[in-house]
Amino acid sequence: MSKFIPYGRQIISEADIDAVTSVLRSDYLTQGPVLDQFEQAVADYCLVNHAVAVANATSALHLACLALDIGPGDLVWTVPNTFVASANCALYCGADIDFVDIDPDTGNLSVEALATKLATAPKIPSALIPVHFAGASCDMQAIHELAQRYHFKVIEDASHAIGGKYAEHPVGGCQFSDICIFSFHPVKIITTGEGGVLTTTNPDIARKLRLLRAHGISKDSNDFTQAAEGPWHYEQHVLGFNYRLTDIQAALGLSQLQQLDHFIAKRHSLVSSYKNRLKNNKDIEWLRTDKNTYSSHHLFVIKVPPAFRARIFQTLRAANIGVNVHYIPVHTQPYFRNLGFNQRDFPYAEQYYSQAITLPLHPALSEHDLDYICDILHQAIAKCKTTGAQ
Ligand SMILES: *Cc1c(COP(=O)(O)O)cnc(C)c1O
Repeated sequence: MSKFIPYGRQIISEADIDAVTSVLRSDYLTQGPVLDQFEQAVADYCLVNHAVAVANATSALHLACLALDIGPGDLVWTVPNTFVASANCALYCGADIDFVDIDPDTGNLSVEALATKLATAPKIPSALIPVHFAGASCDMQAIHELAQRYHFKVIEDASHAIGGKYAEHPVGGCQFSDICIFSFHPVKIITTGEGGVLTTTNPDIARKLRLLRAHGISKDSNDFTQAAEGPWHYEQHVLGFNYRLTDIQAALGLSQLQQLDHFIAKRHSLVSSYKNRLKNNKDIEWLRTDKNTYSSHHLFVIKVPPAFRARIFQTLRAANIGVNVHYIPVHTQPYFRNLGFNQRDFPYAEQYYSQAITLPLHPALSEHDLDYICDILHQAIAKCKTTGAQ
């Protein structure tokens, strides 16, 4: 049997290790010069003015909500087809959460469902958090038009999507949003171990994010409201957190960023190889990406008949293939049911979920791995068809 093939994993080079080691030998392990370099490199890559690095994407989402003044009495909308963090961030701030159904063909927020919900909603959300599922951007221009018309803010959850593009622009450029956030967890496109970045074109938002990630404290004399009694003076202005990224992590991120375009190209070539191997199987479909979207291909999700899904999943796992499912619709989680959500509230997300299997996809996979995975997959489907679903 083949060795275990995870659905996603980091690629660490000798250059990455050298970059981290050199920070370990330096004077600053956190809040040193490499953090600034990493933020600047992300901003340059995304063609955006401001990038603020934080401990992980979950804290990025939390700070994004706070920087947009989301609090008790506010309402935030996201999609059910996401990791729970996209919804939890609103609840951290004391706001209410609700969901907009997805387009089951793309896995992304349905702009049509959004428009309908806005037209009939008793209350307009203060912010919307579209999620660029599997690395493919949502239709940001259409979302932006609705945001202008109904006056809500937009936070892009681009945890999957660094290196992707929308309408020829890098995701993270914030042409059509207030803030965009990325995750650098090891299964994502590039990693810092744990880590996240927020990007924005708005200098006031960037300033607020920097305050909030470090206890709400400023050491900049331009911000002081009290007379400084000496050079040790600092002031806390808001209730912030310790959500800092270390220089050790920033060094890894800066080095990983050099490989980003190479990683994405490799992911694209693996996805075409998968499609070639699977295209003649009538029981397999995959997600469509919009014309003006260049996906980072964080995940390769296939859709199979719902009655076969569990059996196919188990057969692949038994063959050491680390398939996964993205995502159990957030509103069906016990915590969210206790908030009043029910099964069947978002039928397209639930229908999509009943069919979805995430196949392994990361730059270290070989064509040989793909042969093995696709052979087992074809066999599993054939067996489901001859013996029935149970
Ligand atoms: C991974 C992920 C997060 C959380 O990222 P962390 O860096 O682990 O906090 C949030 N949203 C989505 C869509 C994710 O995939």
